[in-house]
Amino acid sequence: MPFPNQPSRPFTRDDIERLHPEQLGCYGLFTKYQWVYIGKGDIRQRLLGHLNGDNECINQMPPTHWIGEVTAYYEDREKQLITEFLPRCNRKKGYKDRVISRLAELQVKPKCEICDHDNWTFVAQVIAVPVLDNDGLFVLPPPQIPSAGLVCNNCGNIRFFALAALGIDLEGETKQEEKVVVQKK
Ligand SMILES: [Zn+2]
Repeated sequence: MPFPNQPSRPFTRDDIERLHPEQLGCYGLFTKYQWVYIGKGDIRQRLLGHLNGDNECINQMPPTHWIGEVTAYYEDREKQLITEFLPRCNRKKGYKDRVISRLAELQVKPKCEICDHDNWTFVAQVIAVPVLDNDGLFVLPPPQIPSAGLVCNNCGNIRFFALAALGIDLEGETKQEEKVVVQKK
């Protein structure tokens, strides 16, 4: 179910400061071309926060207008609306983008430690690095370290990054995606 029918309002400080505080609900930000973001909470406070630049993604594609809905059930309603409109800034980044931006945050050196080139292929699949058990014995199935892999295009050096150490939780991601698909039907 979309937002209730209403004229769209300009996403400007003047307009938003005139709102009554403490109206709880959901809101959607958009431009002429796309839905940018759907959020929830104290509508006035949240919109002012976005105007002040609290969301990097919204800053990158500034909305021109917004609409809203006052509701006590804003937690569930937000999920419904996100599933329906899939705004750009509510979409979860894919596995590759999450790993690459995390490595950049951690300032991992781009140059290959073997050959000094900086041209890598990102391995699209998660790599399970097998390990031995605590006594040094091989067991089946072997315990594994889920890792991201980068291959140096020049010398073939492979870099592994343990996903747990990067804070990338694949289980959460899969569940989230499944849920969205189920709700779409
Ligand atoms: Zn190399």
